[in-house]
Amino acid sequence: MNFADLGLSDELLRAVGDAGYTEPTPIQAETIPPILMMKDIVGIAQTGTGKTASFVLPMIDILSHGRSRALMPRSLILEPTRELAAQVAENFEKYGKYQKLEMALLIGGVSMGDQMKALEKGVDVLIATPGRLMDLFDRGKILLSGCDILVIDEADRMLDMGFIPDIESICQKLPANRQTLLFSATMPPPIKKLSDKFLSNPKQIEV
Ligand code: AMP
Repeated sequence: MNFADLGLSDELLRAVGDAGYTEPTPIQAETIPPILMMKDIVGIAQTGTGKTASFVLPMIDILSHGRSRALMPRSLILEPTRELAAQVAENFEKYGKYQKLEMALLIGGVSMGDQMKALEKGVDVLIATPGRLMDLFDRGKILLSGCDILVIDEADRMLDMGFIPDIESICQKLPANRQTLLFSATMPPPIKKLSDKFLSNPKQIEV
């Protein structure tokens, strides 16, 4: 199996080659094709398995078809911590360097003014922690009704940190016919319940 077999674009294959990767990890091989086919996914995988690229790569290809719209982000990635959100943003920059996508990183501890400016330009992908996202939404600074792709990453850590009510509320602000990708190292009952409620006929992948 190599990256070219997964249906990714030439620009992305070039960026993956620049990163020095020769073949996809098992989670990448299993998740990338169904994500490109717009299916919902539940991925049970630990950090270190190549999980981040398994959703970032196909999202870059999906988002490079279409244009950003002011205040209407096209996709949303939720992360439990600022550090994880920043890492995912770095991945987006690294793999997306040949495709022109606009990104905004919405995390606490950083000036809201700069984040609002980024939003006004129009973004393809929001990478956010739930608290800061809710704060900007409640101030009317962000519209979520154009987010056709949602990633809930590290769902079990979100649960440990008490973010499930925020995530439920965020899910309800997104279009119902979106694509949803949920990743978690473990599947405790509240995460299974979240998946049953907000994902549609997901393909479950466990590595
Ligand atoms: P993650 O599980 O997303 O935290 O990724 C763990 C590490 O694996 C990161 O440092 C990635 O840069 C690296 N990585 C991701 N995909 C591959 C791949 N296909 N081949 C080699 N390394 C990879």
